[in-house]
Amino acid sequence: MRRTLAKPVTREGIGVHSGQLSRCTLHPAESHTGMVFTVGAVRLPAHFAHVSSSQQRTVLTSADGNTSVATIEHLLAACYGLGVDDVRIDLVGQEVPILDGSAASWCAALLEAGLREQTGVRAPLRTQAPLQVFDGQRWARLEPGDGLTLDITVDFPDPGIGAQRLNWTLTAQSFLEEIAPARTFGLFRDLDRLRAAGLGLGASLDNTVAYDQGRVLNPEGLRFPDEPVRHKALDVLGDLALLGAPLEGRLTMMRPGHALTGALMGQILAMTGA
Ligand SMILES: [Zn+2]
Repeated sequence: MRRTLAKPVTREGIGVHSGQLSRCTLHPAESHTGMVFTVGAVRLPAHFAHVSSSQQRTVLTSADGNTSVATIEHLLAACYGLGVDDVRIDLVGQEVPILDGSAASWCAALLEAGLREQTGVRAPLRTQAPLQVFDGQRWARLEPGDGLTLDITVDFPDPGIGAQRLNWTLTAQSFLEEIAPARTFGLFRDLDRLRAAGLGLGASLDNTVAYDQGRVLNPEGLRFPDEPVRHKALDVLGDLALLGAPLEGRLTMMRPGHALTGALMGQILAMTGA
């Protein structure tokens, strides 16, 4: 069975990069629609083939280059984590609202709408043999396995983060409790450079965990001692959602980023012909 929403639900807020207000309404969609954004009359399937940039955030762009949707990864992670296959996302604006910087607010929206089973086959993507991609000190390896298990290691120079490793198996419940609440994070010293590049204009302590030389600047502190590696898992799920079908296997990633996940997805799609 496939899963969609029982009724529409709307959220609005600022984009973490644009700083602009936008509004997203998630609608039920017919079986095999997949996850699709609509901006005005333009339809943008949330598929790897339409990704135009993965610098700092994931951006989808229409074939004519005139319409883009930015920072889709946390909303897509929420859909993927809760097993939503078919959803139409109407966006008024150019960037998905960042809300609290995690996927928890999107999960709450999806649960508020309610999830509904519908007819149609949910066919996972699987690999028969291990796949591996390298990008300098970063690498990813996908091995055959049932369900989806992530083994992720991050290593940041700020002593507040350092090396963190997460070994986690996806279920809707484990996603809600262990991954969805983990917020976007960044180093305070990188903020000026990010803003000079026209990004991070909406970033604040309301939507980002800021580290500064071993200290967390957010007065409320962390939601998990290892919140950064959990957020990386969230970002990886948001990227994997662009495969268009659930992935099965054991995925090990060293220092993951959007580009590395993208390279792996290219291999997966080439292998499965999807
Ligand atoms: Zn993120």
